Formats: sequence, structure tokens, C-alpha cells
Amino acid sequence: MVGLDTALSSAIGGRTVKPLEKAFGITTVADLLRHYPRRLAERGELTDLRELRVGEDVTVLAEIKTCATKGFRQAQRLEVIITDGRGRLELIFFGARQQWRAKDLQPGVQGLFSGRVSEFNGKLQLTHPDYTLLRSSQLAEQEADLYAGALIAVYPATKDIRSWVITNSVSHVFEVLDPVPDPVPMEVRARHGLMSLDEALRAMHQPTTRAEWFQARHRLAWDEAFAVQLVLAQRRRAASVNPAMSRPPRPDGLRAAFEAALPFTLTAGQVAVGETLTEELSGTEAMHRLLQGEVGSGKTVVALRAMLQVVDAGGQAALLAPTEVLASQHARTIETMLGSLAHAGQLGGADTATRVVLLTGSLGTQARRAALLEAASGAAGIVVGTHALIQEHVQFADLGLVVVDEQHRFGVEQRDALRGKAAAPPHLLVMTATPIPRTVAMTVFGDLETSILSELPAGRSPITTSVVPVAEKPAWLERAWARIREEVEQGRQAYVVCPRIGADVAEDDEPDLDDDRPARPPLAVVDIAPMLADGPLSGLRIGVLHGRLTSDEKDRVMSDFAAGSLDVLVATTVVEVGVDVPNATVMVVLDAERFGVSQLHQLRGRIGRGQHASVCLLVTELPEASPSRERLDQVAATQDGFALARLDLETRREGDILGAAQSGRRSRLKLLSLARDEKLIEAARAEAFDLVAGDPALEAHPLLATQVAALVAEEQAEYLDKA
Ligand code: ADP
Ligand code: MG
Repeated sequence: MVGLDTALSSAIGGRTVKPLEKAFGITTVADLLRHYPRRLAERGELTDLRELRVGEDVTVLAEIKTCATKGFRQAQRLEVIITDGRGRLELIFFGARQQWRAKDLQPGVQGLFSGRVSEFNGKLQLTHPDYTLLRSSQLAEQEADLYAGALIAVYPATKDIRSWVITNSVSHVFEVLDPVPDPVPMEVRARHGLMSLDEALRAMHQPTTRAEWFQARHRLAWDEAFAVQLVLAQRRRAASVNPAMSRPPRPDGLRAAFEAALPFTLTAGQVAVGETLTEELSGTEAMHRLLQGEVGSGKTVVALRAMLQVVDAGGQAALLAPTEVLASQHARTIETMLGSLAHAGQLGGADTATRVVLLTGSLGTQARRAALLEAASGAAGIVVGTHALIQEHVQFADLGLVVVDEQHRFGVEQRDALRGKAAAPPHLLVMTATPIPRTVAMTVFGDLETSILSELPAGRSPITTSVVPVAEKPAWLERAWARIREEVEQGRQAYVVCPRIGADVAEDDEPDLDDDRPARPPLAVVDIAPMLADGPLSGLRIGVLHGRLTSDEKDRVMSDFAAGSLDVLVATTVVEVGVDVPNATVMVVLDAERFGVSQLHQLRGRIGRGQHASVCLLVTELPEASPSRERLDQVAATQDGFALARLDLETRREGDILGAAQSGRRSRLKLLSLARDEKLIEAARAEAFDLVAGDPALEAHPLLATQVAALVAEEQAEYLDKA
């Protein structure tokens, strides 16, 4: 019996098993069959050679035009030119020992050629490509027709494992594989017109028509959505078994006092969301809410009101921020906003007062112990922190509400760990400035209900964004620096953002965008800051902020900048989220093409927060016609975060979105496209919730139960890895 769980080595054996494991981690039949073809090529349909790019691993279908031996002795080489009728590409085989190939590589012969594109003397070439030749010309006419129409699965491949090696392994597997049982109930399949899993797997790898291949993809994508939604349905059910504590508002409490002293009027959106939260916190079903709001829309006040309601009801609230800079800024902001309401037990503290503590990984032992004590005793009504908050030894007296700021940096598991610190499940409020389409919210963020703050508080000033194309207009960069000087002379402040810290230390993966950017390393904070200080910005007070500073250093720089004792902050994307200095009116983003669309939008949200008009300059060396450059133009053209998020979703691969949102899903969601498959996800969700409602443990569907368990285990493993 050969099934999906069978080890590949015992199913097919052979020399390719080891390399498959090495290249893709494939060890079982299932692993191999889930290594889906990226696309289909049609024999006879030639690949467009004009679209190749240097550095790409490609497999092209083309016809040999010429084949010639050049050079002598050691320098002997075989040069083969292939063409698809439009572009041409050179194949090179070095060495006298390669000359035998000339016999096969005859003009007129078609083949699949595979290798990494390189450039020599301005011409694109493949050095020592792998190939299989298609002998269509030798076939009988009828056979040739068949052959020309046949679909070839093109797999993600590497230097060592070529696409057709995978094709061969897959067909060996199908020769021995027993019919694959289908975990998805028959009725569900019938309702949605899904082919069986067995059919789908075969059609995915060996389709006879394109239509069949798309049907197979659809079915397999459906499985991905279904499995995730089953997990969510079970979670939702488990959560409803344990009621949350009701935290009703008090008319004479902290929250009322805070509201009475608020220096501004809440926007209509803040009021409306506030009402929803008030109600949900008063209920016994744990709140699970995602609050989306444009940068600067005033999410913090909304969260603070919710936290105060919980404190009034005798509970505590925890606020999780993605970075130490943000955590300490939040703590500072909240303390300032609360004033005497945050000084319980201190001189001048109000009667109803509570305390706010900051708990981060870098606190000294002394401070840390004090903070832990305040959290555990309940003296602190509000505990603000970073990941350190979810460490095991942090205890709360009565955690009633967890607020997560900028969710995209947190995984579901981390959230759950924090929720596990309360006797009854705490209410949950997640805030994000990255607008998230409904499908993503449903799939990636679990079953969060969504609220949106769409209007900005009154009195915000416009941000003008321009692209500074230094390749075509070098003088504009001078203008950018001059603009900073002008603003500083007016008493304003500026940000200069670089993609890298510098000094050659391993840094975070940069976003994987198009390959059309300059070949030099990205500009770095530690290089740019002194360069500006000695050059275009000499005489200005320049500070530096990046993730490698200690948190004390970061804090000092941030508070200096906030206090106005620095004019310019040269920083990495640590300023991306939350940093709030209304007096900053210029932002210059260097190597702007290195950042994603949503990221740029986030960055630019750091300005335009006061009463002065602001300007954001996106500096790039890219030429006008490149895709990355077009992306920058789009960011410059609109302030609508939702439009940009949609653009992001379309232009970036789903893996990246998931990676950014929650990397745990990356390996599993291979086919599901959050942008494209909205309907499918909703249908799968409805079926999953139905199924779990009638059969919470999926006892009648053992195969599904196993799948779901594996998914949960994978997610936990992922979480443990990161912790
Ligand atoms: P974000 O949604 O980006 O987190 P914040 O909560 O940091 O935004 O709010 C940005 C700024 O707007 C803060 O200085 C905050 O005090 C201020 N703010 C919030 N709500 C209002 C309002 N209704 N009217 C005026 N200013 C407000
Ligand atoms: Mg914020």
C-alpha cells in the first residue's frame, strides 16, 4: 500500500529522493504531491525569451537555431543559440568533453532548457543548462499533434532538481499510489462542485486540459481554506465554552473622569467604535475585535477608553506593542493623557486612580521586579509592554483585556499565550493601521470582528508626496535636503528613513520585491547620518534611531526628538509605527523602492500629524518605466490606505502578505490567494462552521480531524521556534 504518508524512499526509491529532500524538504509522498507545478507550459508553445532576467532560474521551451564549436583545446566551447521566434538566448558548454552534445543539439530541434540566466558581453545566456529535447519532428503526424498539445507541468525547481526530474518522480509515484481517500465530506464536495482529492492531485500534476488543471487547483485551494477555517471554528467554539468576565462601565469611574478631561472632542468614528466596545466588554462572551484605522485616526484613545472601563470594573488591561520604542511611547502617552488618574497611591493621585507600568525585555532587574509585582498584585491597572509581556513568569491579578497594537507583528499563538494568563478568557482588541481586506482578516487573523475608524480627527494637515527620481533629476535630491533646512528654520522637524542600519551586521530580511533595483547595497543609517551632518544638513541637530540601539538609547533619542532638541531623525523603519511627533513635517525616504507600498504609507503617517502642511519625498534611483517605480508613483498619487493595501495585495505574492501578517501560514497556504479567493474562503468558512457546530471534535471525520490536528501542531511548532 502506498498512501500519502508513505516515505518517498519506500514509494519510489532511486537517486532523486535525497536531492528532493535537500532542495525542498520533501520526504513523503504527500510532500511531493503538494509540491505543485507553478504553471503549465504547452509543448510547441514557445516561451517568450525577451522576458528573461539576469539571475533568474528559468526553464524555457525553444528551438535550436545554430550550434557551433568555438575556441581550441582548453578554451573549446559549444555555443548554441536557441530562439522562440521573438527573442534569442545563448547556451554555452565549456570544454572539449562537452562536444558530444553537438550531435543532439541540432538546428530545428525543440527542447526544454533550464538554468540560471547570466549575462556576458551584453547577451543573455545559460551556462551548462539542463535540457530535454522534444523529438516532435520525428513523430508521426497524428502523434505530433498530441505531443504538441500536451501540457507540461513546470515546477519550482533548483539548480540540482530540475522541473522534469520532479515530473518523473511524480509519475513514478502515481504508478504505485493507491486511490487517495477524501477527507472532505461528500455532501460538501457535491454542494461546491469539487472534484475528489484523488482526481485533483492527479489533475494538478498531469492535467489533460487547462480547464482540468484549474479545477484541480480550485479543489486544492479549497482544502487549504477549509482546514484553516475548521481550526478557527473549533477555536471559536472552545472560546465560547469558557465565558469571559463581564466588565460593565461605571458612570463615576476612571473612564468618566478621563473623558471629562479630554482636550478634544472624539470623532464620530471614535464614538461609534467606543459604543461597540463598551457593549462587548459588558458581555460574557469574550470580545474579539480588530480595529482598523488609518494612521493618525486616533486608535489609542479608543483603546484607552476600553482599558479604563475594564479597570473601573476591577480588572487589568495589557497593551502589547511590537517594539520597545513603541511600548515606552505608549506608556508615556497614556500616563500623560491620564495625568493624576495614573498616580494611585502617590501624592496628588486622584481617588479613582490606577497605575501604568512598562514592562520590556531590557528593564534592569530592580525595575523589572517592581513592574512584575505591580502587575501580579493588581496595583497596575494598565500594563504596557513588548513580547516580554508574554513570558511565562509575568502574572496578572485579573487580566480582563488584552490590546495588541499593530497586529501584523504578532502571531495568533502569541496572542493566545497572553490570553492564557487570565482565569477567564480576557477580551481582545487588536489595532492595526494596515488596512486588511475582509478575507485576510478572516483567514490570517482568526475570527476577529472588524471595526473601522475611517475619518481622521479634525485639524489634520495634508501630506504632499512626491517621487524624487535621482537617476533622471539628480538636482532634486539637493532640493530635498534644502527643503529639510527650510522646515527646520521654520521650527519644524524631519525624518530621513533608510532601508538598512548598516555597518554590515546581519539584518532582517528585506522585502522581496522586483529585481529592478540598483545593484549597490541599500543605503544605511550609520552611513547616511554622518554624510548629512558633514554635507547638506551641516549645522542641524541630527539624531539616529535604529533597532540596534539599546532601549535606553532609543528612548533618549525619541524623547529628544519629541522635545524638539533634535531637528532631524535618521532612522530605519523603527519609526514606521506609532511614533507621534506632530511637529515633524518632512520625511525623506531613501531607496524608497526597497519598501512595500503599505510600509511607505505607514512611514508617511509619521508626518502630517500637526497643524502644518507636510511633505514626503520618496527618493529612488530607479528608471521611470520600472514596476517598482510605478508603485512609488501610486503611493505618491493617493492617501487612501485601503486602496494601497489592495494594491499591495495584488502586486505582492500571497506568501509575503502572510509572511508579514503571520508567517506560520506560509508553508501551508500554497494555492490560496487572499486577493482572488474571497468567495471560496467564505464558502469554506460557512461549511467549516456548520460541520464543527454539529460535530465539534470531528469524530465522524477522522481524516479531517487528523489534518486539523497537524495544522495546529505545525502552528505551535512555529510559535515555539520563534519564542
Ligand atoms: P493612531 O490611530 O495612528 O494610533 P493615535 O492614537 O496615535 O493615532 O492618535 C494620533 C494623534 O491624534 C494623537 O496625538 C492623539 O492624541 C490625537 N487625537 C486622537 N483623537 C483625536 C480627536 N478626536 N481629535 C483630535 N486629536 C485626536
Ligand atoms: Mg498607534
